[in-house]
Amino acid sequence: MLNHKSNNRFYKTTGIILKHSPIGESDRLLTVFTSDMGKLKLVARGVRKTNSKIGGHLDLLSHCHLEISRGRNIDVITSASNINSFKTLRENLIKIGNAFFCLELVDSLTPDNEPENKIFLSLIETLKKMITNENPLIIWYFSFKLLHLTGYLPELYNCGNCQIKIQPNQHSFNAILGGIVCKDCSIRLKNNLPIHKDSLPISINTIKVLRYFRNQTLEKILNLKIEHSVMIEIQKTLLSHLSISIEKNLKSTLFLNHISHLITNNK
Ligand SMILES: [Zn+2]
Repeated sequence: MLNHKSNNRFYKTTGIILKHSPIGESDRLLTVFTSDMGKLKLVARGVRKTNSKIGGHLDLLSHCHLEISRGRNIDVITSASNINSFKTLRENLIKIGNAFFCLELVDSLTPDNEPENKIFLSLIETLKKMITNENPLIIWYFSFKLLHLTGYLPELYNCGNCQIKIQPNQHSFNAILGGIVCKDCSIRLKNNLPIHKDSLPISINTIKVLRYFRNQTLEKILNLKIEHSVMIEIQKTLLSHLSISIEKNLKSTLFLNHISHLITNNK
């Protein structure tokens, strides 16, 4: 999919606006998650002026057709038109909050310039489903799927510490150790306070729902009847795992940049 980018001065794609920030007097730097090239950093010129023809199509969350011109340092959006502005989500504070949460996760967990079509399709499915359905499982299922597709899935079958197969018991969840921790290790961890303070209790019902997430479609997930206490545990568990995974991802990016800097300097 990168071939048309390298052959022509202009290229077309579709994408969702994940992030934007002002640059100069009237321009914006955009992070766009595209269907075929992954996450791109692009400039949109003059879009903060009231008479901009394309500015109205480049709001956060908008799914749009884009025409892009290759630049020396950064590519420039020359034309934009809406596919879906997700207007219904923008009119509801909870829905827009959930939608922005999904955008932030994608931005934090995906690398630049690498096609991530499964994540793109999952994001579109999630945002469309949110329009008509307020079930909080939508965003937790998306979070889980994103962890799965980016290689950060929590361990749900074996103890993250001793690797023993998990049996129904009083387990805990520890994102630093990679997932579920067996009862014996949970007791031993209490002596290791820095790690123990990140442990969360997790019931067998929550473990079953998370395992079900792994193998089922969004439609099947939305048919589940889930107790409030399990929903709270799912949220706490996944938020804890996401924060550790994002931190690892950021560190690895910094690390790789540092290594490439060292290699460049030693040539
Ligand atoms: Zn263990």
